[in-house]
Amino acid sequence: MPSTDTTSIEMDSTAIPTTAIIGGGFSGTLAAVNLVRFAKKSQRVVIVNSGRPFGRGTAYGTTRNEHLLNVAARNMSAFPDHPSHFFEWLRSRCEYDAMDDTTLRETFIPRRIYGDYIRSLAAHYLGDADPRSKVRCEVIEDCATDIKPRQGEKGGVVILENGDPIEAESIILATGNQPPAGLPGANKLANDRRYCGNPWMNWHENLPSEDQHIVILGTGLTAVDVIVTLRHKGWCGKVTAISRNGMLPQRHFRGIEWPHAVPDDGQTRSLKELVRLIRQDCERLRGVSQNPAISVDKLRSRTQQLWKAFTHEERQQFLRKYAADWNVIRHRIAGPIHDAVTDALDCGQLTIRPATIESLASGENGIEIHLVGRDGEKKMIEGDVVINCTGPKSRFSDSSLSLYRNLFDRGLAKPDSMDMGIAVTDDFEVLDRSDHVSSFLHAIGPILKGTLWESVAVPELRQQAYHVAKSILNQEPAKIAKKDTIEYSI
Ligand SMILES: Cc1cc2nc3c(=O)[nH]c(=O)nc-3n(C[C@H](O)[C@H](O)[C@H](O)COP(=O)(O)OP(=O)(O)OC[C@H]3O[C@@H](n4cnc5c(N)ncnc54)[C@H](O)[C@@H]3O)c2cc1C
Repeated sequence: MPSTDTTSIEMDSTAIPTTAIIGGGFSGTLAAVNLVRFAKKSQRVVIVNSGRPFGRGTAYGTTRNEHLLNVAARNMSAFPDHPSHFFEWLRSRCEYDAMDDTTLRETFIPRRIYGDYIRSLAAHYLGDADPRSKVRCEVIEDCATDIKPRQGEKGGVVILENGDPIEAESIILATGNQPPAGLPGANKLANDRRYCGNPWMNWHENLPSEDQHIVILGTGLTAVDVIVTLRHKGWCGKVTAISRNGMLPQRHFRGIEWPHAVPDDGQTRSLKELVRLIRQDCERLRGVSQNPAISVDKLRSRTQQLWKAFTHEERQQFLRKYAADWNVIRHRIAGPIHDAVTDALDCGQLTIRPATIESLASGENGIEIHLVGRDGEKKMIEGDVVINCTGPKSRFSDSSLSLYRNLFDRGLAKPDSMDMGIAVTDDFEVLDRSDHVSSFLHAIGPILKGTLWESVAVPELRQQAYHVAKSILNQEPAKIAKKDTIEYSI
């Protein structure tokens, strides 16, 4: 593993360029790995990570075997220039020996094994094993709370929670999603053992008895993780999952060869026009008994381009009218996961409740959840255990993270126009308060969602990690042919 001891770096760290990477999940780790892969001169890379396990981050830090990837193995390579890398790495594991290549490529692997993959890349590229490496890496387990510009020199100084500074010529923000937004009343439940505000904690180690009621706030991918773990542990009590739209993620299926709903003719299209084309395409697909989700899948390689061409009003309209449907179609789940959720519904263990959560309060018999139903009627239900799976906070301008509050106060960065992340150029350089391009600050990962919309999953993030490393090294990214095949359609 990379050294966590700053004194072990033998190179004169003041004489060689340093890149500081804030966040050691998939995005930050792969940015570091690509710096190592392509550096032709001596470099120093410092990764600052806290909160989630280094290399694994939020998604791949799970220790539960039943939590599967929601992308098939064939499309989970960490390297855009080596698309079968993950598949080849899987071949190093004995548990897949009996699987033929076609089956393995289509398999949804446990996320913790994907975490092992990223950690193995970190060990290989960021460790000290190869004496020829031009890059020395270190991982510091601490939280970055601020960045100040350097006086009279290019670059910035990352300030850690313990007060230590890290001077760097380039800094990459790879902080992932924000923590979940607090629900009204939740702060009073901070010390209530019946409330779990962070679904990534080990809530499953202390399950209530089966005559008790678990309430899940949210019906997205994290809620699905909770349901699947309860089933896996054989817990048979009642579960209610609540969300505004009451929609669960759809199931993956094998796509078919199908023309694009939106012709790739370089023309800009309004949201209205796109909706019309996609609806027509969905009708055509239904007409031949095919899943209309294929229409959304086929847009994947152009989603960012289409989003960027929308006006601000169109983006807002998309979020208001179409995003909920888009999310359940686009972020689908593996077959075995979908089966477990369907079984829970069919046997009456799981109830989905479409409602808006107004507030939470500590009650005598459980946590009270105050709701407004679709009919506008106010209701209250109680949960013996309540788990918040409402997903990350999306607004950035009032971020609870001191790093972003300080960056915005200093004017070194600004929220993007949708207030869903931070504003960047097409080359992932951060834009400051006055729209000037930063000479040293870059950003990748889910914090680009407002700018790109499609910026959360490995197929996009590996491109960003590769591109930003090349750009810091002043190298042209190689042209990687995008295969628009059925493979990329799911
Ligand atoms: C439950 C779940 C399942 C998913 N499954 C898939 C999947 O199957 N396939 C897929 O392609 N994508 C999946 N995703 C999408 C996932 O977001 C990306 O694949 C990827 O893991 C994002 O990595 P990241 O490094 O950008 O963010 P993160 O994984 O969130 O890592 C960011 C890291 O930075 C740390 N950090 C943040 N701020 C600071 C700071 N100020 N100082 C120091 N450290 C800081 C965080 O604590 C964290 O460790 C899933 C996401 C989730 C949440």
